[in-house]
Amino acid sequence: MAANGIVREALGDLDARLDHWKQTLVDLCRIPSISAVSFPPEEVRRSAQAVAQALRDAGVEHVEVLEIPGGHPYVYGDWLHRPGAPTVLLYGHHDVMPPGRAEKWLSPAFEPTERDGRLYGRGTADDKGGVMAHVAAVGSYLRVAKTLPLNVKFIIEGEEEIGSRNLDRFLEQYRAKMAADFIVLTDTRNYDVGHPALTYQLRGICQVDVEVQGLHQPLHSGSSGPVPDPVQILCAMIADLRKPNGALNVPGLYAKVARPSAKQLARIRKLPLSEAKFKKDSGMLPGVRLWGESQFSLLERMWTRPALTVIALEARPFLGSSNQIIEAARARLSLRTVPGMDAREAGRLIVKKLTTKPPYGVKVTAKINGTTPWWTTDPEGPAFEAARGALKAGFGKETAMVGAGGTIGFVQPFADLLRGAPCILMGVADPNTQAHSENESLHLGDWVKAMRSTIHLADALARLPQR
Ligand SMILES: [Zn+2]
Repeated sequence: MAANGIVREALGDLDARLDHWKQTLVDLCRIPSISAVSFPPEEVRRSAQAVAQALRDAGVEHVEVLEIPGGHPYVYGDWLHRPGAPTVLLYGHHDVMPPGRAEKWLSPAFEPTERDGRLYGRGTADDKGGVMAHVAAVGSYLRVAKTLPLNVKFIIEGEEEIGSRNLDRFLEQYRAKMAADFIVLTDTRNYDVGHPALTYQLRGICQVDVEVQGLHQPLHSGSSGPVPDPVQILCAMIADLRKPNGALNVPGLYAKVARPSAKQLARIRKLPLSEAKFKKDSGMLPGVRLWGESQFSLLERMWTRPALTVIALEARPFLGSSNQIIEAARARLSLRTVPGMDAREAGRLIVKKLTTKPPYGVKVTAKINGTTPWWTTDPEGPAFEAARGALKAGFGKETAMVGAGGTIGFVQPFADLLRGAPCILMGVADPNTQAHSENESLHLGDWVKAMRSTIHLADALARLPQR
């Protein structure tokens, strides 16, 4: 893509003021804007105000902190002085996950620290780095050219990490403000360091809680032998959810699983992939093997097939344990769903499997704890071409077209609201980011490339017709 004059100027200003943008990011990351319950909501509000100030400083107009009763604040801002040009809605989030175990952080979670070209700290990549990539791109244009190639709206959410639980209400209330021709959602990861990606498919999720009870109260394990152990029964029931070949052992679960199109399979097979690197990036111990349906490639398993994880297991902690048969045990199961599946129906099938004919007549209760739908789009057409070109211009490398094994709740509500508007999912994270875990970090070189890409993207989208 040949950069025209205004793009060149914006890129030049970006390079000249990288320290400024980095400092703004560091300042934002010092605020522990944890949206989870039991953390102070004032910090999320303080974060919203800081993001609002960063937008104003960049030249964005009509900046406001938008509240929805019972929710954490969103930040809105726009710049709408290009009549006749299309409008892009830029989404990111300013809340973060809890820091996890303090002793596991090599530098404190909320004291952003640079090491080996990466900025370590909670929120550096997820998602304050993503937010700042857009702010810096817009700010660079406005500073040197006093204009943007197209109209821009920012919406920066404050409760993405707790499942965007008020997003539907928020969009309902502020529907008129959100009108746009394209949506750029910045919260996904690149294929690798230096290798940009556009995400066109996300898995959904269904959580199921299951409890096995066999006794009214704990019993001296001198009675073990004839008396069933609810903990072992629960473990066996969980183990029985997998077949020896790695598929899930839940009748009917695969009935509606869509087969990826030939185009999608070709896209997946085109991606460079090293199993050894994948294992290393995932933190698997040496010698640990992959599991799942071996007839599908690693990426197909992760992006296009359902999978189950035990995310909580409770019976009795080590502390306080004694020689007793524990009366009950429970687990929280997390099923990732894929296109074709209905998350609630899948959850009901798991509940049915778990509660039908309980072993030894124990009492089994199971219920769906919550669902979020999968999302997919056909990443073809001029907006995706523009995004691929912009990422190539910023990174100097062809864009990987990827699925994601995870779930992002905010995509579908935006897609529904702006029906027909292309949803472009890009991000600043990479396989070493450790988002949500301790020692989250942002690759600063890729961050600059993402900012450059965003400058190119504004220019490329501006050339497309309005919807
Ligand atoms: Zn995020």
